[in-house]
Amino acid sequence: MNRRKFVTNTASSGAGLMLGSLLAGASYKQKPSFDGGGPRRNFMQEVLKYRKIDTHAHADENQYKTEVNLDFADRLGISKLMISNFIRPFSEGTPDDFRSKNNFIIKCMKAHPDRFIGTVALNPAFKKESLEEIDRCRDAGMTGLGELYNQVKIDDPLYYPIIEKCIDLNWNIMMHSPVGYSRVKLYPAEPKNISLPEDFASIAKRYPEALFQFAHIGGGIDWEYACKVLKESPNVFIEVSGSNNAAGMIDFALKCVGEDRLVFGCDYSFYQGVGHLFSANLTDAQRKKIFFENIAKRLKKAGVYVN
Ligand SMILES: [Zn+2]
Repeated sequence: MNRRKFVTNTASSGAGLMLGSLLAGASYKQKPSFDGGGPRRNFMQEVLKYRKIDTHAHADENQYKTEVNLDFADRLGISKLMISNFIRPFSEGTPDDFRSKNNFIIKCMKAHPDRFIGTVALNPAFKKESLEEIDRCRDAGMTGLGELYNQVKIDDPLYYPIIEKCIDLNWNIMMHSPVGYSRVKLYPAEPKNISLPEDFASIAKRYPEALFQFAHIGGGIDWEYACKVLKESPNVFIEVSGSNNAAGMIDFALKCVGEDRLVFGCDYSFYQGVGHLFSANLTDAQRKKIFFENIAKRLKKAGVYVN
């Protein structure tokens, strides 16, 4: 979850808003219709030609509705969404809480097995229950952890047994990144145990075999700083979702960590998520990697094959 809706000079504003207006008339499970030819139609054809896996999606009963997820995904050509029901900031994250959140995800996966890949919420402060939850959710078809939140920092020793289990399973570990760190003052609502880029770099070094995903550089963090800190962490994906994508963000991230370490996500900001990858100066091959191939390769390691 990225929790701030900045109004800023955004790379997404061009392509994102254009997508919004192009798709406004399209309805669920319909291909967008166009009012003629020309550049508008060509742009949507360009958008729809890329296979896409949204590596950062949410589902719950209130805020992140299944039908809304699928509506956007259908319009934008997103074939799969990696959904989670994260433990909310400032909540204790008891085993009962995360089990019921994961149960909701399992329900969504059962309803739409061709669209949703479920990822697991847990709280390492409850070690035994969290390790058991990984087994339970894996048996139910879930893959990977995410979105992990602020209950425990990613480099806290409480995470070690969890990460070690994920290494055995080749599971992706996706965790929230903070809002507003360093370039502007840390957003006051960010809880104190939020994981900073340095924490990701440190745990990635301790466990080079583990597969991390640093969430939403468009969510409000100082993305230049985050990319620089994570430059030498080859096992950390930089995920580019978020609602406030400043101009040049993707281009900078690409230059910093390379095309094999960037992954597409929306975090419920669908137009921005897709739009800014078209605003960025990317080659066709780079877009394919970021939209689909990089995460598909990681999922394959865990035994999940997406075509
Ligand atoms: Zn988040």
